Amino acid sequence: MKFIFATQNQNKVKEVSKILDNKEAILISLAEIGYTDDIAETGTTLNENAWIKADTIHTTLGGNVIAEDTGLEVTAIDMAPGVYSARYAGPQKNDQDNINKLLDTLKDKEDRSARFRTVVAVWLDGERHTFEGIVNGTIAHERMGTGGFGYDPVFIPEGHDQSFGILSAKIKNSISHRGRAFTAVKEFLAKISES
Ligand code: IMP
Repeated sequence: MKFIFATQNQNKVKEVSKILDNKEAILISLAEIGYTDDIAETGTTLNENAWIKADTIHTTLGGNVIAEDTGLEVTAIDMAPGVYSARYAGPQKNDQDNINKLLDTLKDKEDRSARFRTVVAVWLDGERHTFEGIVNGTIAHERMGTGGFGYDPVFIPEGHDQSFGILSAKIKNSISHRGRAFTAVKEFLAKISES
């Protein structure tokens, strides 16, 4: 089955294509079809933003569509930055600025627990389906590694001593928020194609 993946973020295209493994779903990115408009993420929840992206592309281009929205939820600051994770340090949406602000905000906090949460919105044959994936972990006191993207260098997933900035893509995808959400999508599509 072919899906348009409603994101301009090439890191996500790469990561999700690896997770789906071209088995149940083949992703076509917005870049591949020449769609360059920025979709305004005006929702106040991850669920709303995922659906804003999926609905915009479904209305404009039609067909099967996948969209996702992800946020970092940090316990000590009331689950912020959440849906505002990309713009945490300002509208420039800069990963390094975001990490600096987070480390500064948490410097006197004992509780460094956090989680990444991903909501996936799927338009399939005219019907809507929603999926979610979560990974729990802690925020490091300083950057660990330079791999991945976004907050990866400061997020240490539960059961590991190293951040997503050090762990391999294979390990990240097997335990991550996005890995879990898209594995659920893959299983759902596999069930449909069996029936
Ligand atoms: P969005 O889903 O593109 O709105 O991303 C929200 C924010 O979370 C951005 O700052 C991303 O860089 C960051 N983010 C999303 N997914 C990940 C991830 O897997 N690891 C680290 N940061 C992420």
